[in-house]
Amino acid sequence: MAVKVEKIDECRWRIPREGAMRTEGLIYASRQMMAVLQREQALEQVRNVATLPGIVGPSLAMPDIHWGYGFPIGGVAAFDAEEGIVSPGGVGYDINCGVRLMRSSLAVTDVRPHLKTLADSLFQRVPSGVGSSRRDFRLNQEEERQVLLRGARWVVEQGLGTAEDLNHIEAGGCIDGADPEFLSDRALERGRDQLGTLGSGNHFIEVQQVEEIHDPVAADVLGLFPGQITVTIHTGSRGLGYQVCDDYLRVMLRAAAKYGITLPDRQLCCAPLSSPEGRQYLAAMACAANYAFANRQLITASVRQTFEEVLGAGAEALQLSLIYDVCHNIAKWEQHVFEGKKRRLCVHRKGATRAFPPGHAEIPACYRSIGQPVLIPGDMGRYSYVLVGTAGAMNETFGSICHGAGRVLSRHKAKKAARGRNIFAELADRGILLRAAGRGTVAEEISEAYKDVTEVVGVVQQAGIGRIVARLKPMAVIKG
Ligand code: 5GP
Ligand code: MN
Ligand code: MN
Repeated sequence: MAVKVEKIDECRWRIPREGAMRTEGLIYASRQMMAVLQREQALEQVRNVATLPGIVGPSLAMPDIHWGYGFPIGGVAAFDAEEGIVSPGGVGYDINCGVRLMRSSLAVTDVRPHLKTLADSLFQRVPSGVGSSRRDFRLNQEEERQVLLRGARWVVEQGLGTAEDLNHIEAGGCIDGADPEFLSDRALERGRDQLGTLGSGNHFIEVQQVEEIHDPVAADVLGLFPGQITVTIHTGSRGLGYQVCDDYLRVMLRAAAKYGITLPDRQLCCAPLSSPEGRQYLAAMACAANYAFANRQLITASVRQTFEEVLGAGAEALQLSLIYDVCHNIAKWEQHVFEGKKRRLCVHRKGATRAFPPGHAEIPACYRSIGQPVLIPGDMGRYSYVLVGTAGAMNETFGSICHGAGRVLSRHKAKKAARGRNIFAELADRGILLRAAGRGTVAEEISEAYKDVTEVVGVVQQAGIGRIVARLKPMAVIKG
């Protein structure tokens, strides 16, 4: 059944409240994006989320919205601490999948001659592909426990990173409330040898160049300049996070029945935030989130080592410093002002990124004048963007914006579109080196599989919920 949508303005659309909906749906999209969306199931998912108990404000969707498990990807929903619920489907299978961006002192001309070696070495050093593991970095039980409790902090204490790194990670690289007691043996087992691995498909390490500066003042604060080399890392909590999600979907199906929550879709299974099941999931989710922070930190150490070796230069000279690290699959306790009242809310962001405004206490002091950095990857053949959060996002979207370009083609359709083509050669022709664990995943990840990220961030900026700072262009891409 088609979902009724009303146009609010050029970039906002409303799904009016009806039936079991407790609130309305609010979608950020251009007219063209909406025309495509109306043929898809994702809008129904926005409507379904609006039926969940204790939802505060609208069921939100960002312009990168597409179908996901239960909740749409690109979805944001906030829930009241007493009346509200927490749902694993509102976080996603890859708990704390996220992105980090590093800058450098290098210019394109410094790196070009070494690019092939760099791509080969990164591909070799950071295990990628389905089920990739690290034989040289297997955690013992106590080490894994420390990772789950302390996230990126633990990795930095092993000498792999700096205090400055931690300061430039959302939540300091560690979510409160983690309790490994609530993880299954299977989840723990899966986490033992995957720290520092990329995983498959959409995850990547990308060597990029700053192509265009849109906001010189903010770019200066972030230390970005035209022609500069940057590195983006996109990965999450690997098999451990997946297992946590899988385990708790079962718990939540029972819990939803137990607490009498009516589900328009079983994939929205959830439990009250105040219930033992809800609290246990959040404690397990925090473990997986911390694992993901640690994972990205360990990969950062590998990237730094690789650059040092390949370019024959020390850390001091390369200055591969972390600009920021954001989560894009997570549920977090946050303070928000809603309808003039201070509220403690559990904000679910699934394929959506926190984007706090200038002056917010939770962003590092060095960025407080410009707002929280937000890193929006596009695709491996075109570009990615750096944005900052705005007061508009705080007022309208619980301080959130999109997390990427978002898919337009299903994996299956993308494979079909790539048939008979040599994607490696196509990219190489445009000066982009691709290294990938699987040919199948490359086909699923072609540029056309994603929306044009320029249009996506354009909507965000037009709506005033984010501000574009810089555009990055890929030079070498390591894919899972
Ligand atoms: P997700 O977390 O939903 O899998 O991916 C986030 C976003 O990353 C996607 O929506 C897409 O726009 C972007 N993306 C996927 N693969 C690549 C890549 O290889 N390079 C860049 N720059 N972006 C990518
Ligand atoms: Mn992921
Ligand atoms: Mn992701």
